[in-house]
Amino acid sequence: MTRYASDSRDRVRDAVDMVDLVSKRTELRRAGADHYSGLCPFHDERTPSFGISPSKKVFHCFGCGQSGDLFDFVMETEGLDFVASLEGLADRYGVTLEREDEDPQAAERRRSRERLSELLDRTAEYYARYLWESDEASRARAYLEERGLEREVLERFRVGYAPSAWDKVITGSLRRGFTAREVWEAGLASRSRQGAGRLYDRFRGRIMFPLSDRRGHVLGFGARALRLNQQPKYLNTADNDVYHKGRQLFGAHLARAEAARAGTVVVVEGYTDVLALHQAGMENTVGIMGTALTTEQIVELSALAPVVALALDADGAGREAMLRAAQTARGKRIELRVVALPAGMDPADLVRARGADEVRSLVEGSIPFVRFHVEQILSGPLESAERRDAALAEVSPVLAGLGPSVMREELIRLAADRLDLSQGLVASLLEGPRRAATAGGVPGRREGRDPRDGSAQGRHARGRDSRDGGDGRDGPAQGLAGDAGDSSRGAPRTPRAPLSQAERTERTFLALSIALPDLGREALRRVDLERHFTSERTRRAAAYLRDHVATPIDGLPGDDPDLAATITELAVRAEREPALPATLEAQQLDLELRRLEREIAKASADGRLDITTLAEQRSELKARFDRAIDRATEDVEEGSR
Ligand code: ZN
Repeated sequence: MTRYASDSRDRVRDAVDMVDLVSKRTELRRAGADHYSGLCPFHDERTPSFGISPSKKVFHCFGCGQSGDLFDFVMETEGLDFVASLEGLADRYGVTLEREDEDPQAAERRRSRERLSELLDRTAEYYARYLWESDEASRARAYLEERGLEREVLERFRVGYAPSAWDKVITGSLRRGFTAREVWEAGLASRSRQGAGRLYDRFRGRIMFPLSDRRGHVLGFGARALRLNQQPKYLNTADNDVYHKGRQLFGAHLARAEAARAGTVVVVEGYTDVLALHQAGMENTVGIMGTALTTEQIVELSALAPVVALALDADGAGREAMLRAAQTARGKRIELRVVALPAGMDPADLVRARGADEVRSLVEGSIPFVRFHVEQILSGPLESAERRDAALAEVSPVLAGLGPSVMREELIRLAADRLDLSQGLVASLLEGPRRAATAGGVPGRREGRDPRDGSAQGRHARGRDSRDGGDGRDGPAQGLAGDAGDSSRGAPRTPRAPLSQAERTERTFLALSIALPDLGREALRRVDLERHFTSERTRRAAAYLRDHVATPIDGLPGDDPDLAATITELAVRAEREPALPATLEAQQLDLELRRLEREIAKASADGRLDITTLAEQRSELKARFDRAIDRATEDVEEGSR
């Protein structure tokens, strides 16, 4: 694990221009002394809910709740872990990171890996130049053009051509000061069997697809034969110190940002499929380079996006691959979906034959893997009783693994239909191994949509809640760089822990208090910090605002970045939201309602007897709340006329 000197984090933070960094993702407008706003890069929206503070180098979105510092921003938008975001930012803003406590052997290994990396990078550059400039590569250019691939995308992926001569790469590399051993170790040479193992270029007369790490550094190549009798059709760099085929996803470094944004990564088989989909605007596509998906690739995929859409050939091999993928993915935190491609067509063919839109809609219409699987099982010939029994036996464990859901019902209906059985029978056959659904939940908690979301601020509750489940997927990796540097900022904070509904209500209340400072001061005096606020963050913000509600930013203490970030966010939001006395009143009632509901839940858990009194209070409060909401809504409508 790379360790950087403890001040690395601060040095990079100081060097980064937050406006410049964020502007690469979304257009920003100055909206205040220390505030820029724009459309949120994390969720789709038409009016800006997203803002940054250039001096504090933090961002926040009021629409989806995404927030954090500059490192979180890069981790989120580029799908990187903390170290990679630190390295990437250091690269971009010209900070040299110093390593700490590297033992001499490790330093030596690192230097030799860096040499290999440079060699591979130069070689990729050479192949790319050779593709576009040499006469010999004209057939390769024609082939790629025939595949419908444009120069722009080929250049983006650094596609190249390896000359057919035996030693161009070796001699060129030696001339540049690399050793024969390094050329061998980089996987660029083969050794002849005769003639005392003379080295010659491993790749000759082939189209070259560079395989890169997450930062775009070349690790090896996939090479496609061009002549009919050239064997093998695909040749890869042999596994070595830097390159492990089973771990790579082709195009991952170029797909990372879009996959993170879209929440989905599309998986295709071949190099040209990846290129074709990127060219068609689906830049969240990666290639698995073959049909088998390895466990390591699944892990890589899960780091790219929570939803993995498999767009593999629908022929037998592709189907098998998807079943294996599902087995490999079992227990991993990803949702597998299947894109139904027309038989015999790969994605590149499809883009060419039917256009990008058609392919995009196929991807959007992807189905959950389990449905695909059940449909596959039931699509075979089922005329004999034995076959139907076999199919039932195969389908049962698949369906039994599903919780009670609409999809489960649908699939049971499908199975019953195809197997000529009653739905009740299929369902009861499935009940055997399943436990009854676990009962429980918090009393007083309603399922589904919270009716209070009809409030003026309720729309903020929507967004990517289900996505940023706070599982720490991209959280700062342990034992790195930041550890020592973190001491100044207190305990490392969990990035983008989702806001609870309660905390959202509390924040809305605080923002409205700032927006209406006179009423807000009164309201803040009336609330009970301990009982009305559920998080330390909002509690401290409320305490602070009691004295500073009219000028919240001015009195911010310099040594409390968390409080400062919360207050800044609230102040910004206060300016942006339409604020009405009735809304503030409703919001305060909402706080009280939530407090009461918590108390009822606790009373019920403790078996207390005063629960009926509490319930009466609640219904009374609920009526007042509803009236306040009505007034607020009327006022808003009044205002918009
Ligand atoms: Zn957002």
